Amino acid sequence: MKLLPLTMQEPRKIRTKRRSAIVDTNEKKTRIVKEIKVDTKKCAGCRACEIACSAFHATPKYSSVNTARSRIMVVMDEVKDVFVPIRAGDYAQAECNGRNKYVLDGKEYEECTFCPASCPSRDAFKEPDSGLPLKCDMCESDPPLEKPMCVEACTFGALTYEEREEEIPVSKPEETQEKRGEMKIGLEMLIKKYGFRNVADTVARMGKKG
Ligand code: SF4
Ligand code: SF4
Ligand code: SF4
Repeated sequence: MKLLPLTMQEPRKIRTKRRSAIVDTNEKKTRIVKEIKVDTKKCAGCRACEIACSAFHATPKYSSVNTARSRIMVVMDEVKDVFVPIRAGDYAQAECNGRNKYVLDGKEYEECTFCPASCPSRDAFKEPDSGLPLKCDMCESDPPLEKPMCVEACTFGALTYEEREEEIPVSKPEETQEKRGEMKIGLEMLIKKYGFRNVADTVARMGKKG
């Protein structure tokens, strides 16, 4: 397996700015859907994506590298030459009952191996100090990056970034109310589990720019 050095520098100069997530065009509302395409055949397991992600999310930015803080994790099976980058998804309050089992190149992997959730069943995608869940935020930043850091760092071309515009239905007032209710319940759940201070500190850290 080839290891690549990653220089801890600011990403390349921005040529085109990533557009804001929601765009109003006349009466239609559209949103920009951001995608990271993963080509596992091209992944070499170098973990530069993990390093880049943790550096970008350090406070201050790029001040440290700790892959335990990364929102991307490369599942590796060097014997089978299988490398699968997984980006952190939503927080799961409890272990789920319906799980997936993957068979790759004839090898059956444990349940949960390719799950993107920050879940009580394992240590993956948890902030090492506070235990708070980590989730990929697509490196939303001000000023915006040309492409997310993990994609920038992946010199093997296993990760590629794409944007597409998609029309969104205008939500009715009661739906907006419902979404707010869901967010409130989500926050209450986190506060109950990790304590108000931990959650408040993390929110403040996420709100810091630079
Ligand atoms: S996705 Fe790219 S940067 Fe990450 S381990 Fe694979 S080859 Fe390396
Ligand atoms: S890690 Fe994922 S698949 Fe496994 S129990 Fe948790 S949510 Fe379910
Ligand atoms: S898009 Fe950004 S936050 Fe998400 S995994 Fe890649 S580097 Fe980390």
